Amino acid sequence: MVSCSSEGSITISDVIEYLFCPRFTYFMHCLGIPQREGRLFKVQKGRALHESKEKTNVGYLRKRYGVTDKLTGVYLSSKKYWIRGIMDEVLFLDDGSAAPLDYKFAKYHNRVFKTHKYQSALYGLMIAEHFNRPVYRGYLCYTRSGNKIVELPFNEKLFQQTENVIQNIFHIIQKEQFPEITGNKKRCIDCCYKRICPQ
Ligand code: SF4
Repeated sequence: MVSCSSEGSITISDVIEYLFCPRFTYFMHCLGIPQREGRLFKVQKGRALHESKEKTNVGYLRKRYGVTDKLTGVYLSSKKYWIRGIMDEVLFLDDGSAAPLDYKFAKYHNRVFKTHKYQSALYGLMIAEHFNRPVYRGYLCYTRSGNKIVELPFNEKLFQQTENVIQNIFHIIQKEQFPEITGNKKRCIDCCYKRICPQ
């Protein structure tokens, strides 16, 4: 089904990179050009931070959001969406639903970025598939704003948009189609591909 280097499925990191810029998908999967150290370092730093935060907030989450149980560092592999990866936390709520909790090594600026919405919704789709529970919302924890937790309601439109993102990624990989330049050209400034990417 899938050509290039994806071995049949893609990772959550692939989706995050696509959301940063769709050309990352092309450079990594179709041309086999890995990212340089700089950006990877940021990701790893974020991951290390996630690990240190995973054990926090249990009582707080229970009281404030009705969390009855949670799993940390959860590896999921979706047969439906052909995606695999580890998510920070899966929360189980007292209304019978489940929800992702994702730590962001960032400050909260009174709005949730579109890329973070899609990422959280992707986790929601994978959780619903794996645990066979409804998923109505996701949570984002902004570690550079005092671990502020923001609730993100999910709806059908957001889930559909997220599925479209996944389809677009596979389309680039399968058709080896060079995507349009990112809409946010500020991202090109310190992009690891800027020397080889026509802008
Ligand atoms: S230089 Fe800009 S358009 Fe090219 S891959 Fe990087 S972010 Fe995307």
